[in-house]
Amino acid sequence: MIEQTFVSVGDGIRRVTLPLPTGPRHVHCYLADGTLFDTGLGLGDVPWRDLTVERIAITHFHPDHVGGAALAAELTGAPVFQGGLDYAQCERVWGSSDWPERIASWFRLHGVPVEIADELVAEGHAFAPFIRFAEGPNLVDEGSVVAGWHVLELPGHADGHLGFLRDGVLIGGDHLLGRISPAIGLYPESRPDPLGDYLASLERTIELAPDVVYPGHGEPIADPSARARELIEHHRARLAATEASLRPEPETGYEISLQLFGDPLPPTQRRFAVAETLSHLERLVREGRARRAGADGAVTYTA
Ligand SMILES: [Zn+2]
Repeated sequence: MIEQTFVSVGDGIRRVTLPLPTGPRHVHCYLADGTLFDTGLGLGDVPWRDLTVERIAITHFHPDHVGGAALAAELTGAPVFQGGLDYAQCERVWGSSDWPERIASWFRLHGVPVEIADELVAEGHAFAPFIRFAEGPNLVDEGSVVAGWHVLELPGHADGHLGFLRDGVLIGGDHLLGRISPAIGLYPESRPDPLGDYLASLERTIELAPDVVYPGHGEPIADPSARARELIEHHRARLAATEASLRPEPETGYEISLQLFGDPLPPTQRRFAVAETLSHLERLVREGRARRAGADGAVTYTA
């Protein structure tokens, strides 16, 4: 596992890297003039007591960013700032006991076999208690300012994903990553066209043209506009591949994901693959390049 590390990354910002048990194996939090951006998963040792933290800002509600928020607030006494929409989703997902069942039945509606959906339920219940988000944070949205940082709404990776911009420096969460393409998935009770949202957020990033983005995973992004353009191209290619895989006969998002992402995948990755396939299908529907239908309790797509 990656060790906890502290690095000065420039712009007066310290990067605190915490280990993750899965995925990219690490997550970065950033500390700038007393503002701590993101809090890690909250498992294992955390250094917050040894640092001067006056306020905590959350980019989005995914476990590796918000899971340690309650603990960080407890240890520092600092108030937490989180997006309004993001906090609503955070509560719905991590604060309710039946979310695993709700998400599993939604995946079944999209053709995911029962045994994979059931595994999601078990995993969800095992995982949720460890995610200790801060209850009742100060809610912020587009136009808010937190300690001189301008709050930007950059939906896509999460519906309520925020960025924090000051003097050309963007604390970007998982909006823009250097080496991996941030997951853009469709989920229940979320905005209907996350990929459309994301492409617009990428265009906005190009317009804003920050000098540097400090991401939640991986190294700082020195040319954010170029990276945003690459990601737009990546999704255009994925949209074309998704469109090409459609047939005249109706198929579920799960079936289409098997063609696009191969088989087999472990359940967690299969879930991401299905959610990612669905976000592309929904964008194609909106562009008139695919058709959605629902019958017999299943959602299907055709060319
Ligand atoms: Zn992340």
